[in-house]
Amino acid sequence: MKNRNKEEVLFSADEKKFRDELREFLVKAEAKKIEHEIYERDFYPREFYEKLGEEGFLAPVLPAEYGGKGKLVYETILAEELGAACVPLAWIQSTSSYVYATIARYGSEEQKRRYLPALKKGANIGAIAITEPEAGSDVMRIKTIAELKGDTYVISGEKRNITNGSKADILLVWAITDQRVDPAEGMSVFIVESKAGMAEPGFEVLEDYKLLGGFPGTVNSHLLFDEMSVPEENILGGKNEGAKIMFDELSIERALYAAMLVGEARPVLELAVAYSMEREQFGTSISRFEGISFKIADIVTRLEAAKLMVYHTARLIDKGFDAEKESAMSKLLASEAFYEVAHSTVQILGGRGLSDEYPAEWAFRMARLSMIPAGTNEIMRFIVQREVYKEHKSKKEE
Ligand SMILES: Cc1cc2nc3c(=O)[nH]c(=O)nc-3n(C[C@H](O)[C@H](O)[C@H](O)COP(=O)(O)OP(=O)(O)OC[C@H]3O[C@@H](n4cnc5c(N)ncnc54)[C@H](O)[C@@H]3O)c2cc1C
Repeated sequence: MKNRNKEEVLFSADEKKFRDELREFLVKAEAKKIEHEIYERDFYPREFYEKLGEEGFLAPVLPAEYGGKGKLVYETILAEELGAACVPLAWIQSTSSYVYATIARYGSEEQKRRYLPALKKGANIGAIAITEPEAGSDVMRIKTIAELKGDTYVISGEKRNITNGSKADILLVWAITDQRVDPAEGMSVFIVESKAGMAEPGFEVLEDYKLLGGFPGTVNSHLLFDEMSVPEENILGGKNEGAKIMFDELSIERALYAAMLVGEARPVLELAVAYSMEREQFGTSISRFEGISFKIADIVTRLEAAKLMVYHTARLIDKGFDAEKESAMSKLLASEAFYEVAHSTVQILGGRGLSDEYPAEWAFRMARLSMIPAGTNEIMRFIVQREVYKEHKSKKEE
């Protein structure tokens, strides 16, 4: 039993092979070095993302006919490893992946043929546009409207905080298509081509936000659709099916987002362990003080629990279960575990934890930021308790 890897219990041989090959590629491609350069010079790693596609690592969630492995668990491994190796790259992938996974799930054959190959190759980048100035947590309050004029939908409205927004080639845009009914019954999703944020008639990038700590290597945009024309055939999954698609999509989004955070936390935790073993005070390694080593015990435990929850969720989705509760739990656990890891690491590094000599301080900023996207942690708690009471009620009625 001594030489066996505990990962064998969680992952198949093929999943392990995928992870090992990806790690090897990321080490050879000097992903960590590129990450450091991005933090110094703030550039968007589009070329590096394309390289990942060329090497065949992107979009493993796609079915075999589109070059994938047909399982979310591989996409989850990808998000985790990119999070650990190069955070900005992980943000591009975890957002693009909702686009290709959703097109693969709901798209017509023509839509799949048209959009999936370039997304798979990394030649195209995706974005999802749900949030609006007046519709944040309450996603059912969107005001963007799509009106059918002849064989074209005309889209008008604003979308805010859109990851990859100004760089994306393909956006999924949620808009109201029937104003007479409740938005849950009257919204649709559109595939909108924006050609890397280039000015298209009726499409404008109003601003790229400067978020906490600058959020280098990523973009988070405020977009304006001002009577933008989109062909009728670009509706995804049928007219007025937008709310259903959004809720399915959000479970995948949260699982992948949580995987990315588990990955982001990993090198920070490794730094805390290594530093605490090397640093000596009072004539001994600080790891011998329980005030330090118990912090390590706590953050390792929290991060491991988050990781297990993430992979459990991905496997539930792969087996066709509705995993709304589990994906909310994954996002909640992973973002709070990441926050605790970063917070404790800053403390363990003492004064040096606050300087940019070590990545602890930016990890702390990233961890704080991570509690808001993909639904705030309050909304995650809301979903979990709602599902728990629902399950309890249905058990009582059985
Ligand atoms: C880095 C980043 C990336 C993002 N990427 C995308 C993207 O790619 N696409 C996209 O569409 N959106 C994206 N978003 C938007 C994100 O999903 C929203 O910011 C989030 O859903 C919260 O909406 P809001 O900011 O309007 O806050 P609000 O909804 O206004 O919430 C304000 C506060 O009230 C709390 N609150 C609201 N309702 C409740 C409730 N019922 N119970 C308890 N508390 C509540 C919230 O938790 C929060 O603390 C991103 C945001 C960030 C910061």
